[in-house]
Amino acid sequence: MSIHEECGVFGVISPQPGDVGRLAYYGLYSLQHRGQESCGIVVNDDGVFASHKDLGLVGEVFGRETLARLPRGTMAVGHTRYGTTGASVRSNCQPIEVNHQKGRMALAHNGNLSNAARLRDALELSGAIFHSTSDTEIIAYIVTKERLSTPSIEDALSAAMDRLEGAYSLVLMSPQKLICARDPHGFRPLCYGKMEDGTYVAASESCALAAVGAEFVRDLEPGEILVFSKGGVVSRREHCGKVEPAPCIFEYIYFARPDSVIDGVSVHTARLRAGEILAKTYPVQADVVVGVPDSGLDAALGYSRTSGIPYGIGLIKNKYIGRTFIAPGQDHRLDQVKIKLSAVRDSVAGKRVVLVDDSIVRGTTSGRIVSLLREAGASEIHLRISAPPFLNPCYYGTDIDSRDNLIACHHTVEEIAEIVGADSLGYLPVEQLGALIGKGCCCDACFTGRYPTPIPMDTRKDRFEQKLSEKRS
Ligand code: SF4
Repeated sequence: MSIHEECGVFGVISPQPGDVGRLAYYGLYSLQHRGQESCGIVVNDDGVFASHKDLGLVGEVFGRETLARLPRGTMAVGHTRYGTTGASVRSNCQPIEVNHQKGRMALAHNGNLSNAARLRDALELSGAIFHSTSDTEIIAYIVTKERLSTPSIEDALSAAMDRLEGAYSLVLMSPQKLICARDPHGFRPLCYGKMEDGTYVAASESCALAAVGAEFVRDLEPGEILVFSKGGVVSRREHCGKVEPAPCIFEYIYFARPDSVIDGVSVHTARLRAGEILAKTYPVQADVVVGVPDSGLDAALGYSRTSGIPYGIGLIKNKYIGRTFIAPGQDHRLDQVKIKLSAVRDSVAGKRVVLVDDSIVRGTTSGRIVSLLREAGASEIHLRISAPPFLNPCYYGTDIDSRDNLIACHHTVEEIAEIVGADSLGYLPVEQLGALIGKGCCCDACFTGRYPTPIPMDTRKDRFEQKLSEKRS
C-alpha cells in the first residue's frame, strides 16, 4: 500500500498554566500515522506564542531539550503533516502562525481545499503575499482578513467557511481561545475530550485523546465550530446541515488507527465487517487467513471468523522503517518490500492462503507480497481487498492523485489477479461500503467518481511551486 495519509491535528486548553506542549507532543505521537513529513507545536503562554516545527517524525523533531524549551502555558496546538498541497519543505510545516491587526493566531489543518487555486489567485490579485505553498496559509489569510470586519475570531472563521470548499478539520488558537471546526461535509474526522482537571483536548482521532488520558466527549458534527475559552465550550452550528455529510470512508478502511472511533463507529469494527463481507462474497477453500500489516489485519480477522478458516500471522512488518528509510537503488538489486515485510514460513508453507490487504494502487506492492508468500512455500494465494477498486483521484487530502497510477483503471479484476500473481482476487463490492459504517452518507468518490464538491482543474501537489517557477521564467 503506498497511499499516504493526510495530517493529524491536536489542540489543548487548560484552566491552569501547565506543560501543555508536552501533552501536545504525546497527542502527536498517537497521530503520527496520519503524517510523517513534518510536525510542530505552538504553545500559548498568556497570549505569547512559542513554537517549534521541523521536517521529520515527532520523535526526531522533539527531543528532550526541545520539549524542555517550550514554555508552560494554558493552550497548545500541534500538527503532523503529510502534504497534499505544497512540497515537503520547512516553510510548509504547521501549525501556521500569523500576526494580524487584531492579534495573533496559530492554525493546524487536516484536509485539502478543492478551491485552493481559485482562492489563492483572488488573494494574490488583491495584494496578498504567500510565504508557503500550502493551502492552510490560504485559510489563515481569509480568516485574518475576515477578522478585520467581524467582532470575534470565531465569527471570522465562520465567515471564512462560507468561502472554503473541500476538506478541512481545523484547530485554531488565538490569545484567548481554542477553536475547532469541521467542514460541512465532515470529510476528515475531529473530536474532543475532557480531562479530570477540566482540560479540554481536541484531536483528529480519539486514539490521541486516550493517549493523554482525556475522556472522549464527542465528534464535531460536519460544519460545527466549537469555541473553548475560560467561559466554557460554545457550539456554533450555522454551517451544519447545509450539505449532505460525506465523511471519508477510506478513513475506516486504511487511514485511521483501529483503536479510534470516528462518528460513533469503531474503525476496528468497520474493518472486521469488511472481512466478513469479503468472506461471504468470495468464499474459497483455504487453510489459513493472513492479513497484510497493519491495516489488513482486522479485515483478515473478520474474514477468518466468518469463514471458519484459521487466522494466522503470516507476515511480519519491520516497525523501525520510517521516513528516513533510504530505498535501495539500482546498485542493490534488493526488494524494498522484503526489507519492510517478511513471511512467517511456518504459517504459510504448503498452505492455501487467503491474503487480505486494504487496497491495490499500482499493483507493484501486492505483486511483491504475493511473491514473498510463494517463496515461503504457500501453495495457493487468494487475495481479498477490503476496499473496492480505486478508479478516481481524491481531492480531499490524500495522494490518490492520478488515474494513470491506478491499476484498476486499466485492467479487469482477472487481469489484476494475473499481474500480481494471485490465484484469485476479490474486491469489497462498492455497494457494500455503507455496510462498513452502518450508514449510507459517506464520501466514496475515489471508488465511484461521485464527488461531493466541484473538483479542481489542477490537482498536482506541487501546483503552487510550479506556478512560482513559471512566474520566474
Ligand atoms: S475520494 Fe476517497 S480517499 Fe478521498 S475523501 Fe473521498 S473516500 Fe476518502
